[in-house]
Formats: sequence, structure tokens, C-alpha cells
Amino acid sequence: MTSLSGLPAQPIQFHPPVSSLRWGVRAIGGRFNRARWASVGLTQALFFGLCWLSWNGRPLLSFDFAHQRVHLLGAIYGPQDLLLLAGLLMAGALALFLASALSGRVFCGFVCPQSVYTGVFLGVEHWVMGTPGQRRQRARSGQRLQSAARQALTWGLWGGMSLALGWTFTAYFSSGPDLARRTLAGAMGPVELGACLGYALFAFLQAGLLREKVCQHMCPYARFQGVMGNEHTQVVSYDQRRGEPRANVLRAPLSRGAGPAGQAAPAAQVLPAAGACVDCGLCVQVCPAGIDIRQGAQYECISCGLCIDACDRVMLSARQPTGLIRFANSLGTGWRDTLAQPRVRGYALALALALLGVGWTVAQRVPLQLEVLRDRAVLARPNRDGSVDNIYRLHVQNYDVREHAYQVQLREAGGLQLLPTEPIVVPASGERSVAVTVRLPAQAVQTAGADPARVLPLQLAVVAEQAPDLQRQQASRFLLPR
Ligand code: SF4
Ligand code: SF4
Repeated sequence: MTSLSGLPAQPIQFHPPVSSLRWGVRAIGGRFNRARWASVGLTQALFFGLCWLSWNGRPLLSFDFAHQRVHLLGAIYGPQDLLLLAGLLMAGALALFLASALSGRVFCGFVCPQSVYTGVFLGVEHWVMGTPGQRRQRARSGQRLQSAARQALTWGLWGGMSLALGWTFTAYFSSGPDLARRTLAGAMGPVELGACLGYALFAFLQAGLLREKVCQHMCPYARFQGVMGNEHTQVVSYDQRRGEPRANVLRAPLSRGAGPAGQAAPAAQVLPAAGACVDCGLCVQVCPAGIDIRQGAQYECISCGLCIDACDRVMLSARQPTGLIRFANSLGTGWRDTLAQPRVRGYALALALALLGVGWTVAQRVPLQLEVLRDRAVLARPNRDGSVDNIYRLHVQNYDVREHAYQVQLREAGGLQLLPTEPIVVPASGERSVAVTVRLPAQAVQTAGADPARVLPLQLAVVAEQAPDLQRQQASRFLLPR
């Protein structure tokens, strides 16, 4: 590879796209194209598959908003696990920052649903409508009817794909088998129907019609990515020193007969002063963002690498070394330098800590929630024997995958007594509320009555009979009559 060493750092450019993409994007094979399709296969296999899988009779992944539950890998999470969600979101953001510091917008190019869906929709369009050249030719020769029929078929297939995406998205709010049963029985609820159609419309518009406009004008990530990388970041770059001055040797008179039939001759052989770029424009034709990477690093670039595939093919055809366009930084240093950057190490360390924190939180998590509410109707009830009762309502939420019977306990209660209470049986992923009574005996009332605050602290706890580690306690107050 020719070194870029010595070239000045290239700031992120704001060139308008050079291609309107009116006739679509030219398809190209190569290692980055294969990597993109591998990512499409993996992400879509997960998206379309996970909603059908179960674990111990429960959905593997499901967002049950109606009951405020999330089912994930056999565990049940609720609102009290928001800290876990915050940790996961933080880990996701740090992974994004790390990827950007390492290699620009690679997340956009290979993993982002917008790029993934757009890639699939473009594949269908290419299959039905043909190559950009064929589409242009059809338009020039006035085959309007055939073009319209192909366009209608493309839109029809996009519509079917969008509905499949919308339906699968909706299945994550119950489960694939459950939603399939209700869909076949015509019993989908209005909210589910709205979610399904809304997501389908969203996918159709974003991936079918708006495509790269979403990445360029709607995605906030494209705007602030510039501050996440620096001159050490490996981004898709055109080697200007090697490529310029560009010269289209296929059009140059000197090139006739210089290369094998149908192939470009080495530019330097035909035009001695020419750079390696033969100005074929293939890197622009395959770019889903419609930009010309030869103008320098641009914020529209999603680092998909398709221009690298295209240019490598041209270079091989011209019997030149590949890598005229490649992942490189403006300092000409390699990945070792990029990995050694403080910001890269900082992001990696922060990501590792965030993942450790999430793992620790999961390991320490108690799948049980207890809420203790004082009965506001009867603050303090004096009895004939001089004792005083307070009534509490215990709300127990069982986030375990098994049913449990919980014993109620009174802790740190001084002279207070808990009146006999039946164990609270709560089904798996269920909840129950019960009332319990705490009594202060007559002899203790007089002692406690000397306290001007006339309040006694206490702790109420619930402990699973079959799993003593499964317990929660909450502080409350015992009030004496005034
Ligand atoms: S310039 Fe290259 S890497 Fe960037 S979006 Fe276009 S094809 Fe992809
Ligand atoms: S594909 Fe390569 S050779 Fe062709 S125009 Fe782009 S940079 Fe130049």
C-alpha cells in the first residue's frame, strides 16, 4: 500500500452529493459487500427469529408493556430495573463511540437498521428494475409502460417486506406464536394493528423512498460523528497522492491497444504523468450516499466500503496494486497507532466498566419488589385493651419465573408485634396486595406516648419460604393517636 504519510489532515467535508441516485445504485461484489450482506443476514435472522423462541415456556425476548414486564433470556424485568436499562444504553453508546473513534461511521454502514433495510430494498429494486444503465436505457427508449409495471412490482414487494417487518416488530410486544394465532383468528387489537402498520409505513418511507436522505438530513449521529474521530481514525479515504492527477485512460487515444481487450491499461504506462485513478467513476456509481470520496472525507460517508470494492476491482483490471481507496487515516499510520489513542483506550475501558456494572447488577438482582403503604383511612386504631393498631397494605410483585409463598416479617420494631398473617402466594410474574396489622401492646403505648413525635420506626419484610435469599424489606412508620 502506498503510504499516506506526510499528507495534511483532512477535515470532514460538506460537499453536496455528486450523484442524485435517480437511476439507483450500481451493485458491486467484493469483500465489503460480502461483509454487508453477512451483517444483513445476521441482524435479520435475529430480528425475524427471536420473537418465535421461548425459554422455560416464556418468550425469549418480549416487551409486555400492558403488565410492565420485559422477558429476556428466561428472566423477567420490571420498572425497578431501569438502572439496568440505563447501563445497557450507556454500554451501547460507548460501543458506538468506540467504533467511531476507531473507524468512523462503520456502525452506519454495516449494522444500522436504516442501512440494513435500505440495502435489502435496493437489492429488490435492482432485481426488478435492473441496473442503473438498463433503467436509463428503458427511459430513453420510451418504454414507459414496462418501467411503470416494474416500478409497481418493486413497490408491491417493498410493501410486503414492510408489512413483514411491521408484523415482526409488533410480535415483540407479545410473542411470535401468540400474535400469529391472533392474526389468523382476526383478533389483533387496534394498538397492535396500529404498531404493525405504523412500523411498516415507517420502513417503506425510510428504506424505500428516503434512503440516504435519512442518513444525511435526519440522523443526529451523522452530525456529531466529526467530534468522535480524529486524525488517527481509520476512515474510508482516497489516496490523492497516488491517484492524482486522475486520467481516464480508456478515453485517451494513447490507451488504444495498451491493455488487454476490455481492460484499462496502467495509467502510468499510457499517460506517464497520470496518477493511478482512471476516472472511471465506478466508486461514485456504487456509493449509496451518492458522494465522490475523491473529494475527501465527507460527513455523508457511512463507511460501507463499497467504493473500496469498486476501486479494487478497477485496479486489478488495470494491473495496479489495490488500495487506492481504503481504510486509512490522514497520518498514514496503521491500526496499532489508532488502537493506542487515549480516547480509544478510554472508550474501551469505560465500555468494559459499563458491561461489568451491568453483569454485576444482573448477578445481584432480586426478582422481587415490595411496596409498603400505610392505610390512610385508619391512621392509628386504639383498642379496648389499650393497645394500638396500624394497618399497612403490602404490594408484592414477583419477577421470578416461579410462584412463591412469601412470609411477612416485622423487623427493627421495638415493642411492636405483627398480628398473624397468612403467607402471600404470588404467581410467577404476578403481583398481589394484602393488608397486615401491626400492634403496639397497652404497656408499651404508655412508654411510647411520652415521645413528643408519637411515631415509631419499623421495617416490614417479605421472605420467600422456599428461597430465603428472595426477600425485600421496606421502612415505614407506626403512628400513635394524638
Ligand atoms: S464513499 Fe464509499 S464508504 Fe462512503 S458511503 Fe460512499 S461507498 Fe460507502
Ligand atoms: S473507482 Fe478508483 S479508479 Fe475509478 S474513479 Fe474511483 S478512485 Fe478512480
